[in-house]
Amino acid sequence: KSDTSPMRCEEESDLLKEEELDVARPVQIVVADEEEHSFSLQEEALERLLLKEEVQDLNVVVVSVAGAFRKGKSFLLDFMLRYMYTQSESWVGTEEEPLTGFSWRGGCERETTGILAWSEVFVVKKPDGCKVAVLLIDTQGAFDSQSTIKDCATLFALSTMTSSVMVYNLSQNVQEDDLQHLQLFTEYGRLAMEEVYEKPFQSLMFLIRDWSYPYEHPYGLEGGQSFLEKRLQVKQNQHEELQNVRKHIHSCFSNIGCFLLPHPGLKVATNPHFDGRLRDIDDEFKKELVNLVPTLLSPENLVEKEIGGVKITCRDLLQYFKAYMKIYQG
Ligand code: GDP
Ligand code: MG
Repeated sequence: KSDTSPMRCEEESDLLKEEELDVARPVQIVVADEEEHSFSLQEEALERLLLKEEVQDLNVVVVSVAGAFRKGKSFLLDFMLRYMYTQSESWVGTEEEPLTGFSWRGGCERETTGILAWSEVFVVKKPDGCKVAVLLIDTQGAFDSQSTIKDCATLFALSTMTSSVMVYNLSQNVQEDDLQHLQLFTEYGRLAMEEVYEKPFQSLMFLIRDWSYPYEHPYGLEGGQSFLEKRLQVKQNQHEELQNVRKHIHSCFSNIGCFLLPHPGLKVATNPHFDGRLRDIDDEFKKELVNLVPTLLSPENLVEKEIGGVKITCRDLLQYFKAYMKIYQG
């Protein structure tokens, strides 16, 4: 990876301009230093988001999409943004409208391990009339070598501890590895939490991209549920290790779901000029997408972040971020 690519200067001056103009954009809130194997919290950036007058005292909903690079997280987050900005039947957009948001710099995006947040915290009125603040988070890193596994477990733990809904973005299937990584980062998270809670974390949603066995388990939430039940089943004849991973995952989250998404089509997956417009996305995918996004974000489905059974505000969340970060910095 080179820091002297021609993009860099231009990119940085663009970023400065956006910051000055307060344009909504992804903001890095946790940065990984890959050489030092350390993390740092961008406190000022996080304060700017969470201490805004309109949101600081509202209960917060934190939806985090987490997983490896190049698996369609930004693409999904961009549709989540459309939903948050539009809040009407036609949220998914028009055929020719390019996607913007997390993937706004498309192919130039460097693969950085860390946590990004959307700079705009959305205020949504729930059906009971209560207003909540919705924060969208992108967590990424690679569990590909001994040294990155530990770093990423810490990062994903931090993200799990601070989110109310964790969307675990996986490609094609749930592999035994994916479960082991999940166990590792939930264990890290549990260790870092002061008190021992019955279930330390809230909702976990396995999101399987490019699902290709719809005849066994149909696309969507119900197919996902039946698939997951089978995949997370603890069986007598299973190796003890496999049993433990499953028990552990069940014991950590109050709510576990799964959604099976079809492949979005070859234009999305392979065309370098693809800019996110609906025309280029397979109908089957769009059909499921319009179910998935409201499942996560519609006002009645929003899950407020709780710690130890108590709902927390944006202002509290900032404090928790700082406290958890300190623990990892040892
Ligand atoms: P991220 O690194 O996880 O944020 O991934 P991106 O959203 O930047 O997407 C990486 C590449 O995968 C882009 O070329 C997308 O067009 C493509 N992509 C997005 N969603 C999907 C999907 O569900 N399946 C496949 N196969 N490709 C996808
Ligand atoms: Mg991305």
